[in-house]
Amino acid sequence: MLGAIEAGGTKFVCAIGTSDLEIIARESFPTTTPAETLLLVIEFFKKYEAELESIGIGSFGPIDIHRASKTYGYITSTPKLAWQNFDFVGTMKQNFDLPIAWTTDVNAACFGEYVAGNGKGLASVVYYTIGTGIGGGALQEGKFVEGFSHPEMGHMLVRNHPADDFAGSCPFHSHCLEGMAAGPAIEERLGKKGQALDHDDPFWEIEAEYIAQCAYNTTLMLSPDVIIFGGGVMKQHHLMTNVHRAFERLMNQYVEVPELIKYIVTPALEDNAGTIGCLALAREAKLHS
Ligand code: ADP
Ligand code: ZN
Repeated sequence: MLGAIEAGGTKFVCAIGTSDLEIIARESFPTTTPAETLLLVIEFFKKYEAELESIGIGSFGPIDIHRASKTYGYITSTPKLAWQNFDFVGTMKQNFDLPIAWTTDVNAACFGEYVAGNGKGLASVVYYTIGTGIGGGALQEGKFVEGFSHPEMGHMLVRNHPADDFAGSCPFHSHCLEGMAAGPAIEERLGKKGQALDHDDPFWEIEAEYIAQCAYNTTLMLSPDVIIFGGGVMKQHHLMTNVHRAFERLMNQYVEVPELIKYIVTPALEDNAGTIGCLALAREAKLHS
């Protein structure tokens, strides 16, 4: 049995799955403090301890992914104060003597789509989540693209849609994608949540423009085989038509990209991408231990 922890800013999803990545148990817990939340996480996995072989964690960040670092496995400079410098992997290791895979929440979802979703069989896969924040992960031949740290693609700069004078809600940057297009940015502009807007609200064209700029930048930077957009805001499936149209306009035929309905897509695994990805990462960790 494999364990999965999708550690999000609002909730933790814990799951048990088989080596075929079939989810057989799942529970979620609110993200409060490390002491409170981890107590519930540990309690959940203790029930399966006898069969559990490894655990995959996809966490909100920023996180330390460098194995040689003293703070490997920590959540580092997150704006969520209670979680700053929390030794996540160490805490799990103290309770479970098992191989543990450790990456960002978006990398985990990217991996899920790569092994079992819209990235299956492809060499280069990019995944973004557009929810409370925006994060991105990229895989090249099954390995995460990273250097001194994991990517923070959600904070790429975008330029304003002509009908939008918002400067963004990110405390670090003006006009970054997260500040312009994540769920809270929609709410700050319009005074209501994205899920409360009609499908034909003119705002969706503005939102689609920013997502298209992101796909444009991604295409020019990485030329991936597929770009997947998940997260709460992408539940507005109608957005994709506008994204494709805006992307075509921005790209202006400069590069010949794959057919757009297969190139810029939503996750085939929908809300399970992260959990399946964590299970698949746990499977890898077991193999390489
Ligand atoms: P999280 O990012 O916290 O893991 P989500 O991906 O569900 O969770 O993102 C939550 C954000 O997405 C909120 O800002 C919410 O308003 C927005 N959201 C959720 N569902 C929808 C929807 N159907 N349409 C538009 N926005 C949505
Ligand atoms: Zn930012």
